[in-house]
Amino acid sequence: MEPRHAAAITALLGDPARVLSNPQTVEQLSRDFYWYSPVLRKQLDGKVGDLVVQPVNVAEVQAILRYCHAHDVPVTARGAGTGNYGQAVPLYGGVVLDLARMDRIEQILPDGVAVCEPGVRLGVLENEARKVGWELRCYPSTIIKASLGGFLGGGSGGIGSVAHGNLRDYQTVRALEVVTMEAEPRVVLHEGDAVHDILHAWGTNGIVTRIWLALTPAVEWSQCAIAFDTFDAAFDFSERIAADPAWTKRLVTPFEWPIPSFFTPVKQYAPEGKALIFFMIAASQCADLEAAARKQGGEVTYSGAYLGLRTRPLLSDYTWNHTTLWAMRSDDAYTYLQCAFDPVTVRDQMRRLKERFGNEILFHVEFWKSGDGRMIPGAIPVVHYTTEERLNDMIAFCREIGVFVANPHVNNVEGGGRYRADNVQLLAKQRYDPKGLLNPGKMITFKPEEITR
Ligand code: FAD
Repeated sequence: MEPRHAAAITALLGDPARVLSNPQTVEQLSRDFYWYSPVLRKQLDGKVGDLVVQPVNVAEVQAILRYCHAHDVPVTARGAGTGNYGQAVPLYGGVVLDLARMDRIEQILPDGVAVCEPGVRLGVLENEARKVGWELRCYPSTIIKASLGGFLGGGSGGIGSVAHGNLRDYQTVRALEVVTMEAEPRVVLHEGDAVHDILHAWGTNGIVTRIWLALTPAVEWSQCAIAFDTFDAAFDFSERIAADPAWTKRLVTPFEWPIPSFFTPVKQYAPEGKALIFFMIAASQCADLEAAARKQGGEVTYSGAYLGLRTRPLLSDYTWNHTTLWAMRSDDAYTYLQCAFDPVTVRDQMRRLKERFGNEILFHVEFWKSGDGRMIPGAIPVVHYTTEERLNDMIAFCREIGVFVANPHVNNVEGGGRYRADNVQLLAKQRYDPKGLLNPGKMITFKPEEITR
């Protein structure tokens, strides 16, 4: 990028402190957690932006995009940079648009809808919501660091999804505003079904500047860990609790041994050789849950109150994609997949995977409720990586036996498995970013020449 652009953007903002060009800072703010994938590591190492710009309001976002559009400068939005797919890594340099300073919670409406700027950290939103009787419906295990805009742009679900589905379900995202990448950037409101044009599009078709997010009434939670002799027994019990609406739960996560052995800070709750389940369950139901588990042969190894995100131990720190992080700390040959088993044939699917891949695949299941109300045995299995070919074999085999895979080893929206078949994300890109300057290279079905023809 030509140096004159940095000077011009600084002049636009009138605050040099929010235009960062120090190479180390720019490099740091060009990265995310793509290194979870040995495949992406090879592709994305060394990719950096030229400049980080930190707007504080919508007018500044518009001014930056207007300038970048006029001068053909790529712009890659950044929340907290905790994505795993290299979503926030700029492939063609340009501006990293760091939205961390647009972090206001404007209000929490009486019907439990939070109106926020995109840079608000999810942990802050959860804490503020709980003060007035609400809480997030679902959140990633990176809740402390991750931003709401980044969750919408690159995330899918997490803790709470067992009860409330993923971010895209149950009208959790009520509305959002996006700024377009055009000669005169517009602020466009997307409401109802139209939010799906923008959700999980990796910042390729607009910059989200305001969000209306539905919350759920706050619950007094407890946490517990329950060990079973076999993974099959742990899975059966987890499934029973997940699928029965009488249980008020936020987390139901069974792990196959030796995954629990990777959780060093809570190792004392993980008996050698046993499968383990981590639960967040309504405090009023915790004793009943533990009694039900004992009846099935389970051993309660930990039980305690949940006093907010600072609770220690915080069992959610070992779930969702944090599980992979603990595995990688134990042995950096571990990586992962993101799967959804079939609720009916799940046992057979797991058996076939084990027969074929043995301990190359270790089961870590995360239950989530799908948009049509079914309880899905989602999974983020830990995979012992040897070669890309072997990894692709495993993905192909999963798909062959009906296991859905959102491939976390590809760096584009389409390949990640959350691309919408109705093309609404692509159509929005054609409308809002005709030159293809927003996070270029990440939506591969977009061809700028088709638009300009
Ligand atoms: P970023 O990584 O900064 O951005 C993500 C994408 O959104 C990028 O493409 C970026 O360009 C785009 N973006 C950011 N802000 C905007 C904006 N304002 N407008 C338009 N586009 C924007 N994810 C889950 O869904 N569930 C999990 O449980 C989960 N667990 C994780 C555990 C670990 C240990 C790690 C490392 C990651 C995990 N993730 C999980 C992935 C990630 O943490 C979450 O999706 C998180 O919400 C991303 O937020 P972020 O602010 O870091 O986004």
